[in-house]
Amino acid sequence: MKARAEIGIIGGSGFYSLFDESESLYVETEYGRPSDLVTLGKIGSRSVAFLPRHGSRHILPPHKVPYRANIEALRSLGVDRIIASNAVGSLTEEYAPGDFVFFDQFINMTHGREESFFEGAPVSHVSAAEPYCSELLSLAANEAKSMRIKYHSNGTVVVINGPRFSTKAESRLFSSQGFHVINMTQYPEVMLARERGICYLGIGIVTDYDAGIEGRSDIKPVSAAEVNRVFAKSMETAKRLILDLILKIPKAHSCSCGDALEGAVIVP
Ligand SMILES: [Zn+2]
Repeated sequence: MKARAEIGIIGGSGFYSLFDESESLYVETEYGRPSDLVTLGKIGSRSVAFLPRHGSRHILPPHKVPYRANIEALRSLGVDRIIASNAVGSLTEEYAPGDFVFFDQFINMTHGREESFFEGAPVSHVSAAEPYCSELLSLAANEAKSMRIKYHSNGTVVVINGPRFSTKAESRLFSSQGFHVINMTQYPEVMLARERGICYLGIGIVTDYDAGIEGRSDIKPVSAAEVNRVFAKSMETAKRLILDLILKIPKAHSCSCGDALEGAVIVP
């Protein structure tokens, strides 16, 4: 089958306006239905598929997002690179609200999610040492630099199950471990992409300081209203970054994401 899309975008419903013209496609996968219809359109000469992670009406909480169906739906359309945007809380003062973070590592603290495509034979253990695409990471950092966005080119994201936010004790623990930001959706999304050999770029937009910063009584714990306010404000910048980035992604891959399954399968 001819690929319908080469690049996938997963994020909030604000990304619908990335396309001048688009069509929406109902996709069914063996892992069920994705979060919503997949929207297909062009950015420059590149064919792009967009999927709103929480559904177009934001009805799916982080622990109920059909992560496997989402990745499989994009893969079935031919997508071999995914750019994903996420709201994140900061665990350190240097990562301030409004900053952009390109994740390079994650810590998984979620539970009960369907987190792998490999549920039987052949038994496979995919390396997670470098879960994010090195090529997309460096392209994104270059683009953010030329756009003069305040960004961090490395970020360890701790992924919690949600939907509640952290207690002060949890936030203090994560912060003391040197994790930079906190989120509820990066896992298993990034690993499922990796299991399918798809390049994955995780862009975090800092919206708040999680449960506050130790010793700073002027910084209040996060609220959903504050997340929405800062995220909406950063949306236009995120869209411009993603648009420019897509135009600069070379057709050929110079990373090894496509080989993620090599040596991962246990042969009896
Ligand atoms: Zn890659």
